[in-house]
Amino acid sequence: MTQLAHVLSSLASGTVTVHDLTAPLSVNTPTLVLPEPFSNLIDFSIEEVSAYDEPGPFWKHHNIHTGEHIGTHIDAPIHWISGRDGKDVSQIDPQRLVGPAVVLDFSAETAESPDYLITVDDLKAWQAQHGEFPPNSWLLFRTGWDQYGEDSAAFLNTDEQGSHTPGFTAECAQYIAQELVISGVGVETVGIDAGNAALLDPPFPMHNFLLGHDKYGITSLKNLDKLPVFGALLVVAPLPIVGGTGAPARVLALS
Ligand code: MN
Repeated sequence: MTQLAHVLSSLASGTVTVHDLTAPLSVNTPTLVLPEPFSNLIDFSIEEVSAYDEPGPFWKHHNIHTGEHIGTHIDAPIHWISGRDGKDVSQIDPQRLVGPAVVLDFSAETAESPDYLITVDDLKAWQAQHGEFPPNSWLLFRTGWDQYGEDSAAFLNTDEQGSHTPGFTAECAQYIAQELVISGVGVETVGIDAGNAALLDPPFPMHNFLLGHDKYGITSLKNLDKLPVFGALLVVAPLPIVGGTGAPARVLALS
């Protein structure tokens, strides 16, 4: 039996399960809100064109209106100025979009402080305890933030001091981008950087370093608690928008 045949028979028998890590995409999907003077993308919406009626008697179909960076989505290198000469979302090699998932649980730290920033020491201690990251892997950071789901206020957690959601120190972002042989990073929050990452140096360091080193980010993941630390197979399937800086993605994991 080939290795793929073994996977297929395991799927058929239910010993391997497909987990959907994707947040449902609707008018309630939270989107990043940039402060003045920056411009924001539109929220997702759906517009009925026909519904088995005069404009389309036998069918129902919609227009969708959306920004690229909505819900569970991928950031492509050209999203950031550091990756401006890199790939758009249609150019990402499919080999990089399928790979080993590694699940790192920082939900205890995030429960203590929603502003928690994961450090290089955190990652080195994690690897010392659990093992090295496999080549081409996706590091999926569990923070418990998916519990806020479609509650935009709780998900963005904004006050006069800005947005309070977890992320990474600048040094950690640089370490991940430059020292690790991985495909990308996945998070449960609205963006791959912390809510207050505009205050870091460089600003938004995960965007800056990751996208500047041909690594990719995925956001608004769910169900990471269903996955093992090692051993799951991740499938990231963004829309191949030509020239796109990112796209909504269906993210599935086999384990
Ligand atoms: Mn994005």
